[in-house]
Amino acid sequence: MGVVEKFGGIKPVSWLLNWSRKYSLWYFQFGLACCAIEVMAVSSPRYDFMRFGIVPLPASPRQADLMVVAGTVTDKMAPAVKRLYEQMPEPKYIISMGSCANTGGPYWDSYSVLKGVDQVMPVDVYVPGCPPRPEALLEGIVLLQQQITNEDPREVWSKVDERPA
Ligand code: SF4
Repeated sequence: MGVVEKFGGIKPVSWLLNWSRKYSLWYFQFGLACCAIEVMAVSSPRYDFMRFGIVPLPASPRQADLMVVAGTVTDKMAPAVKRLYEQMPEPKYIISMGSCANTGGPYWDSYSVLKGVDQVMPVDVYVPGCPPRPEALLEGIVLLQQQITNEDPREVWSKVDERPA
């Protein structure tokens, strides 16, 4: 924290901090429907998303930096998804994967489906498709890494301080 407050505004330091963060994203998958199968493919040797620095190990959202919401979010499930999001420590990122998570998808007019997971938590990257191909999710990860590259570490860490105790 001290390093960020003192030196976070200096370009080489902020670049190094962001470079370190973007290539060590601990990833928590929240698969809700068919899109989750595509996410499993991404972690397979064929697509191998660990080469992008994604670490698929956290057993709980409390250790994760990144959540991929893959699948249909029902109104009943929405509070659980939001609770998992709130349990993640700052800085945290969300990828919404697939038409269902983005907008409700084929079930957009259903009485029981949320019209997009962004109604309950902020989304950083939307990956379109029904289901998106694994390559699309990989592109979403690269876009997220580009976003992290351009962040101001002091701003990111100030959110950590704002977090309720
Ligand atoms: S977007 Fe398509 S593939 Fe993904 S969960 Fe919805 S219906 Fe299934």
